[in-house]
Amino acid sequence: MKYCRFELNGRDTYGLVELVAGKEVVTRFLASAPEEAGGELEDLPSKRMSPLALVEAALLAPVRPSKIVCVGRNYREHAAELGNEVPTEPLIFLKPPSSLLAPGGNIRRPQISERTDYEGELGVVISKRCHKVAPEEDVRPYILGYTCVNDFTARDLQNKDDQWTRAKGFDTFCPVGPLVTNEIDPWAGVSVETRVNGAIRQQGNTRDFIFGLDVIVRFISQVMTLFPGDLIATGTPKGVDPVVAGDVIEVSVEGIGTLRNAVVDE
Ligand code: MG
Repeated sequence: MKYCRFELNGRDTYGLVELVAGKEVVTRFLASAPEEAGGELEDLPSKRMSPLALVEAALLAPVRPSKIVCVGRNYREHAAELGNEVPTEPLIFLKPPSSLLAPGGNIRRPQISERTDYEGELGVVISKRCHKVAPEEDVRPYILGYTCVNDFTARDLQNKDDQWTRAKGFDTFCPVGPLVTNEIDPWAGVSVETRVNGAIRQQGNTRDFIFGLDVIVRFISQVMTLFPGDLIATGTPKGVDPVVAGDVIEVSVEGIGTLRNAVVDE
């Protein structure tokens, strides 16, 4: 099942997304936020609406997380390109929910930074309270679905500061969407691709994670309780590079779709 969050007549709402004649269409309203359902997406009550093409919907970020937990250096070649060692355990950091940006929204480059980079990533949306997952416990029931994330980064500030709160935390530095789906299997491998102005810059596959989703979810849950709707950004493949005002970044994850955002100067 696929769903999006969008604004209709001034109201914040969720909709079921289905393929109709080869096009993605919002076909039904969901009665409540999917992360509040606490169970299977398929069981969510919904009601009929006039069909709306996904590309014409006023999309909002499809998640409302209490926190956004990111994994750094989760692909070997990306660790190498920034001159970093391959980590021996997951390296995690936070982005504030205030950094969220809707699909189609403008990423605002702060004047204080001279180098801002895209980082295309697979996003994981949490389904239910998740605390100290046991070594043998399956993490899949804690995952509601998957989306695309751009872990936008002020690279110069990341290098300058001892920690990354500022570099990763500006408003608009976390575009997410366009939808959430439970129809993909990152364990089997899905491609993660980033394009800038149409040219391919990153091409990775979740098969090449240093730490798989089991390790990541279990590791984070030992540190902090994950709540329904929380978002995990799973790390970026090699190919990060700066962008400037006027550039358009597209993050595509196989089976999810494309998250598109333009860059503007603040
Ligand atoms: Mg990242």
